[in-house]
Amino acid sequence: MVSIVKRCIGIDLGTTNSCVATIDEGGKPVIVPNALGESTTPSMVSFENSPTDKEAPIHVGLSALRRAISNPLDTLYGVKRLIGRRFDDPEVRALASTLPYEVISAANGDAWVGVQGCRISPPEISALVLSTLRSIAEEHFGDEVQEAIITVPAHFDNAQRKATSDAAAIAGLKVRRLLNEPTAAALGYGAHRGQDQRLAVCDLGGGTFDVSIVNVEDGVIEVISSQGDLFLGGDDVDRAIMEQLLMELREQHRLDLTSTPEALQRLKAAVVDAKHTLSEARRTTIDLIHLGTLSSGKALHYKRTIERAEMNSWIQPVIHRIDAPCLEAAARCGISPKDVDAIVLVGGMTRMPSIQNQIASIFGRAPLKVVNPDEIVAIGAATQCAILDGLIEDTVLLDVTSRAFGFLSENGQYQQVIPRNATIPTREHRIVATNKEDQRELYFEVYEGESDDPGLNRQLGRFLCRDLPEAPAGEVMILVEFTVDVDGILHVSTSELGTGEARELRLVATAGLTRAELASMIPG
Ligand code: AMP
Repeated sequence: MVSIVKRCIGIDLGTTNSCVATIDEGGKPVIVPNALGESTTPSMVSFENSPTDKEAPIHVGLSALRRAISNPLDTLYGVKRLIGRRFDDPEVRALASTLPYEVISAANGDAWVGVQGCRISPPEISALVLSTLRSIAEEHFGDEVQEAIITVPAHFDNAQRKATSDAAAIAGLKVRRLLNEPTAAALGYGAHRGQDQRLAVCDLGGGTFDVSIVNVEDGVIEVISSQGDLFLGGDDVDRAIMEQLLMELREQHRLDLTSTPEALQRLKAAVVDAKHTLSEARRTTIDLIHLGTLSSGKALHYKRTIERAEMNSWIQPVIHRIDAPCLEAAARCGISPKDVDAIVLVGGMTRMPSIQNQIASIFGRAPLKVVNPDEIVAIGAATQCAILDGLIEDTVLLDVTSRAFGFLSENGQYQQVIPRNATIPTREHRIVATNKEDQRELYFEVYEGESDDPGLNRQLGRFLCRDLPEAPAGEVMILVEFTVDVDGILHVSTSELGTGEARELRLVATAGLTRAELASMIPG
């Protein structure tokens, strides 16, 4: 028997569903079911009143999912696609146009959400999901849980990682580590125990697709490249099936359901059930009594048998969209897709046979059978808790930066400091000299992105290094140091070269929650 020192949980904070795992008394990771006995909980939050009304109930999980169609404006889902992002980002604009709820711009330009006239930040919404997962685990232990390892997509940038960390802080959880999802999947599948190999981790959930190439060598797991499509998932498959059935209803029964939310909700639930059934069976029937009223005044008893092959033909265009990211992920690390040794499937949608077949045809081999692809990431996160607690030995995790980092100084020269795919944690520095006599302040802008043109990269913040000593131009040298921690989050510091004295660094502008905002959101 192994004694557990701390209560640390592994959390897969998914776009559609979330999952929590822990380590059992024997040191083995296990999934913690929610109060309904289900292993995953919808990452959904629904407000009955304004979020400022502290008395009004807030629904999280399945009860929020049930309100999605009847209360579309107040039911928030897919918030992971907004967290840490800017309102004017073209991807966010495209996403906002497909979401039923309101996406608004915060004062600093971040993407926030508007609910019943109230503005709410994505970290606060994710915090509600995290609090629920925390309660699920506390119920299981009969004890408080304070620490978590939370997984994030490998391509998450600095702001998205920081915002996820903020969400955890609001939920009262200390983040022990933000772990890249493909790394967690490799761990969950047990790659650290097997022989050296190169894996492709394909993760298709409700709203997003991610594919990563992961190297496992001497117990060291390293993500070497990652690609994704933020707009590809089970929702697109559901939409394609819905569109087909709605078209048939219009053509065969002259019935337009688009203006009756309850009927749409019933049909959508039946479509999702049918999609799940067709992963096992070749045929299923949707049977809905009184779905709508026909022009004759009669109630429509809707009965439609769907063959798996028929459904596959409706969703072909969606399925083919997984090709490009897979080819790109392999190309980025200089290999052909056929060079991978094994394929690990992650996410509920990978239970679908046509998705498995498509992935098999891209990589030229059948994916590994993973029993529960929607639990494997959380299991990996809990395994990482066990590694950090010393319960599992001989495994080291090496993650890489998902983006390059650099800065633009006053002389107009852009310098890349940390390249993309650098193993983390990592630290690098550059030296900048003053260019005016008695220059007391040095201004520079920090960017994330691979381009040599900062205009094509994303600005993370503007900094002012103050209180420089008076001296002729070029004599004061400042060491600008970039550190990317194990969570993939960048920290910037400056010191004077020679004396080594730290120089106050003032953040002039940045994205994300300010410290004061964050403090006001943390209860207690
Ligand atoms: P995840 O975000 O990993 O929980 O994946 C959620 C997506 O997987 C949703 O679109 C689900 O409808 C879909 N999904 C879950 N189980 C199945 C299944 N057995 N067959 C097909 N799709 C599924």
